[in-house]
Parts: sequence; structure tokens; C-alpha cells
Amino acid sequence: MSNIFTDEVKKHDLHKKWNNTKKEAYLYQKLSDNKVQCQLCPRMCKIAQGQTGFCKVRKNIKGTLYTQNYGKATHVTVEKIEAEAVFHYMPGSKILSLGNFGCNLDCDYCQNWVYSQFQYTPESSIKEYSSEKVIEIALAENIPILSWTYNDPAVWFEFVIDTAKKAKKYGIKNLFKSAFFLTPEAVKMLVEVIDVFAISIKAMDEAYYTKFTKGWLGPVLENTKIIHASGIHYEVSNLVVTELTNNNESYDRMIDFILKDLAPTTPVHFTRFHPDYKYTCVAQTPLEDVMNARKRAKDNGIVYPYVGNVFESDGLNTYCPKCNELLIERFGLSTYIKESFSKEDVLCNKCGTKLPVYLSREIQ
Ligand code: SF4
Repeated sequence: MSNIFTDEVKKHDLHKKWNNTKKEAYLYQKLSDNKVQCQLCPRMCKIAQGQTGFCKVRKNIKGTLYTQNYGKATHVTVEKIEAEAVFHYMPGSKILSLGNFGCNLDCDYCQNWVYSQFQYTPESSIKEYSSEKVIEIALAENIPILSWTYNDPAVWFEFVIDTAKKAKKYGIKNLFKSAFFLTPEAVKMLVEVIDVFAISIKAMDEAYYTKFTKGWLGPVLENTKIIHASGIHYEVSNLVVTELTNNNESYDRMIDFILKDLAPTTPVHFTRFHPDYKYTCVAQTPLEDVMNARKRAKDNGIVYPYVGNVFESDGLNTYCPKCNELLIERFGLSTYIKESFSKEDVLCNKCGTKLPVYLSREIQ
């Protein structure tokens, strides 16, 4: 384990520096003896004075729970919405991707572990932003969507909620990409301000969650159902991990859940993993594995199955579910809306089938 941590990425303790952080957490309860109980995620950490929760970014200071990451960003970058495994919402649109640090999970194969595991986040990568500054950047660059991403934005909750509320007043949309290991109360607050959700379901297996993510599956599925019932656009992704979830049983369980508890028209992305963090003993997921997952999904009735972390493949394209006409073509993160797709009526020009794709006026 220790050999993966370079000098640059060494452990630190920024908590001491940030003792004056004064953004009180939104979801917690005060207990006796100056203890608090965080209610943001299912861990419901009981935190003693001077201590932090599992995510390492929420701290009890004299009986009040504070977030230590409010307005602190490690990434503010311009990308395309397809980078978030979102293909049916403003395809081809620019997004302002915002990343923070800390996580309420600890996945062995985390693709972003330097930032998700706060003790390894280089101090030099952390910059201060206000909600207003974020909005100003989006407006100046003509970016219609803020994307809360990279580490899990679950632990950036207060800054996401505050900024999203303000951004809405300027017509800016908000995308929340998360593993959804949250309490239902937190999800309900997000539903009030978020326009599109990218939901990562790791596996349909409780033992897998416990062993490889240090979380548990039940809340993730319940939260996904809440999002589905809310009517807000969402897409599901499943990281297909070599020798863990690259098998038919795993694909079939995922497909079953989507068909029974969500909808066949939910876009689903089977994405390739690359070796990282503690899970470097296997190769990148073979392309044929995600293509196989996609085929099984399609054969079983999922209407819009895709592959991810792939540069060029049929599995990236959107086809008409009725006549199979190519409507949206993708290479890497480049998106081409074809003549065969009516942007005005959001339908296939060849056979007239409507598609569940949200297009904004400004990109038509
Ligand atoms: S968000 Fe952090 S402090 Fe709160 S319950 Fe989850 S892991 Fe614990």
C-alpha cells in the first residue's frame, strides 16, 4: 500500500489550520456532552468535540458541526457534459466541473483517490471560491451548467446547495454526480435545486459495497428511487471493474433493478475502470466486457444502454429505439447531433419516434 503514495501526495493535517472554519453543517443534531450526530449520510457519525467524521471534512468544534470544505475547490475546469456519463441532457454542452475533497465512501479502486481521500490532497491544489465567483466564471465563459463532480459532492453539500440556488437565478443549471450514499433528507434538499443527476451504482451486491466501498447498498437504491420519482432527469452509471463486476450476474442484477424499480428508458452507462489506488493488481476493463454488458442490457429491454471511458464505439451513440437510425454520434467527448434527429421536436426524423433527450434552446 504505502508505495502508491508519492512525496507530493503525502499525508497532511489541514484540520489544525482550518479550526476557524465557520460554516455550520445543514444536517446534524446536537447530543449531550458536546457531541453531535451528522445526518448527511447513512453513517450518521456521532462525533466528539474536536473530532471529524468518517469523511474527514466535517468537524465538531465545541458542540457545533462545521463543514471544513465550504468554498474550497481543487478543480474548476471546463469540460463537456458527456464526461459525466450524461448523454440525454443538453448533449454536447459545456459544463463547469467543480471538485472538492473528502468522501463518505472509500472505494478500493477509486479513480480520484488523491482528492476523495482528504489526507492525501495536496494543499497547493485547494483554492478558495465563493458561490458568486463560481457563477461569475460560468457567465463569463457562457457555460450553462455547473457540474458538481470529481470527489463525491455529497460531502460538499452546503456549498453545492447554496451555489445551486443562486445559480438558478441566472438560468444556470446544476448537475450532481454522486454515489448517492446520502440520507433521504439530504436527497430531498438536493431535489429542490439540482436539474440533473448522474448516479453511480457500484454493484447490486451488499457484500461488495461493504468490502470495496466501505458503504452499503440499500440507501443508494432507495435514493435512486427517490430521484426517479422526482421526475428530474437522471442517468445511471456502473463502473465495471475487472475481476469484480465484469460478469454476467453483475450486469443482470443491475439491469433487473433498472427495469423493475426505475424505467427501461433510463440511460445506463457501463464504464471501464482503470487500475488505481489500492486496486492495481488487475488490468483495465476490456472493451468487450462493457460491450457485452451493453448488449445484455439492450437484449433485456434497456432502451438506452451505453459504454463509457471508451474513445470510439457504437456503444457511445444514440440510436432511434424503433428504427435504429443513428441520431447522436459520439467520439470521445465530441458529440454530433445528426440531421436525422429533429432538435425542434426531439424525435427521429425517419420514423417520428420521440426521444427522452433534453435540449436547451441555446445549443440548438
Ligand atoms: S457526511 Fe461525513 S460526518 Fe456526516 S455521517 Fe457521513 S461520513 Fe459521517
